[in-house]
Amino acid sequence: MSTTPETSDNELESLSTPDISTIESTDIEDNEYEDQDLAHGTILLDSNYVFKVPDMSQTISQLPTPKESFRDYYETYSAKYIDFMTNNPTTNHTITHFKSLLENNGFTYLPDTKKIENLTPGFYFTSKDDQSLIAFVIGGKWEPSHGSCFIGSHCDALTVKLNPRGSLREKIDGYELLGVAPYSGSLNRLWLNRDLGLAGSVLVRDERTGKVSRKLINSSPDPIAFIPQLAPHFGISKDEYNPQTEMVPICGFSNDDEELIPTDEEKKSKFYGRHSLALLRYISQLSNTPLSQIIDFDLDLVDVQPSHRGGLNNEFIYSGCLDDRLCAFTSVYGLIEYSQRFYLNKDVESYDGLSGIYLANNEEIGSGTRTGAKGGFFIDILKSIVSDKVKFHTQEAVANLTTNTIFLSTDVTHALNPNFKDVYLDKNFPVPNTGPSIKFDSNGHVLSDSKGNEFLTRIIDELPGIKLQHFHIRNDSRSGGTIGPIMSDSKRGINGAKLIIDVGLPILSMHSIRSIAGYKDVGIGIRFFKQVLSKWQTTINAMEQ
Ligand SMILES: [Zn+2]
Repeated sequence: MSTTPETSDNELESLSTPDISTIESTDIEDNEYEDQDLAHGTILLDSNYVFKVPDMSQTISQLPTPKESFRDYYETYSAKYIDFMTNNPTTNHTITHFKSLLENNGFTYLPDTKKIENLTPGFYFTSKDDQSLIAFVIGGKWEPSHGSCFIGSHCDALTVKLNPRGSLREKIDGYELLGVAPYSGSLNRLWLNRDLGLAGSVLVRDERTGKVSRKLINSSPDPIAFIPQLAPHFGISKDEYNPQTEMVPICGFSNDDEELIPTDEEKKSKFYGRHSLALLRYISQLSNTPLSQIIDFDLDLVDVQPSHRGGLNNEFIYSGCLDDRLCAFTSVYGLIEYSQRFYLNKDVESYDGLSGIYLANNEEIGSGTRTGAKGGFFIDILKSIVSDKVKFHTQEAVANLTTNTIFLSTDVTHALNPNFKDVYLDKNFPVPNTGPSIKFDSNGHVLSDSKGNEFLTRIIDELPGIKLQHFHIRNDSRSGGTIGPIMSDSKRGINGAKLIIDVGLPILSMHSIRSIAGYKDVGIGIRFFKQVLSKWQTTINAMEQ
């Protein structure tokens, strides 16, 4: 049934450090966008991108020995990942970056509001409100009965939101304070004593046309707020801080009584009285937009400390937001690397598969939003692809597709913390720089089973230097959730899929403001996801023949 392009392993492994066009922050500032604030890299989304035509001729390098090759590969991708994490602190930044990256690597944008029609074989992506994303390769010989393979992760991360209903708090003895709200399990002790910047999106109305566009802003490297702990000298034991009254960020101070005088324009703004004048002026300056044109904003307080390599031998990456922008990043690059095989004289016309990635929003708050996994974006796109391909009996064709679909629910998992080895189930924990970890839970908080384990074992057996690791919680502990069980829903998921497998890359300090991963795990994730997309058909066929 499968006619996956014949590509030798040697050829695949020769893609040591692919020439994948990347949107660097300097590119954005210098060339890519019309409207920008050079100091802070503001991006106007509806401006015309200047796309680079992908030059795939350089993607094949001399075949190095695997060890040397992978060292360069892991170094290159860990550096790319650190840049990405430092420059993209919010979900909107993340999805916007990936959209540009995909477009620069030969993927075509499909508006999510339009029916998919007359899709030719090739590479595509679509996004819902720049908060979730689906990208895929579809072959000319693909039929719904051939199924599909998708790698799903979540693109949101724990953060602290500027209160959307108003951040104004009463000044206390000269201190200017910010009204904020936690996103998921943030705003606890771990958010104390950090340099917090302001980043996110600002909705802007064009005065002339009335058109609404979105600008991304990022105050980094400058922090604007700080939540101070109570020093231990006060003798008050503080294991927990009240998030409403004891974790209010300080964003300024003045010890004179001189208040800012609002202009007439500022007085007319709907934000006047809801946010401080100093903050409104800062947002206006950062977005390079008069306050009168700002309709609304969705802004986070983000740790401005850049992601960094560390350890005595540089074994680690220290970063915020690894959960789950580690799997999101590696799955996007895995797909791009996979798609490049079709430039290497492998005609996408003769490919009979549908393979891709899905980045869902809002996993950390339960996924129940229009851009979250429960919103149904993924199954709606699958249905639209089927309707385009099959004009009659589409319902049966959709069922045929989902029955033959393999979905990897990929999310970070807990690496062994050496200080707490007793809380892990013996011999059932992953370590860094080794390989992805399949996750099991008899109570279904994650969905891997024995067939999924065999599938991934066969996939990884062909990847030199990577091991499949295993995670199972102790009986006296509770497993965290992922989008895996949500994707198994019969109404807005792909219930009845051939396989849904929970697997992820290990990190330490999950749900902290700062966590660490192995530096190789970026490249390991990319190699793994690329291999899944390359080999899912032959692997499942070999298991079921
Ligand atoms: Zn997660």
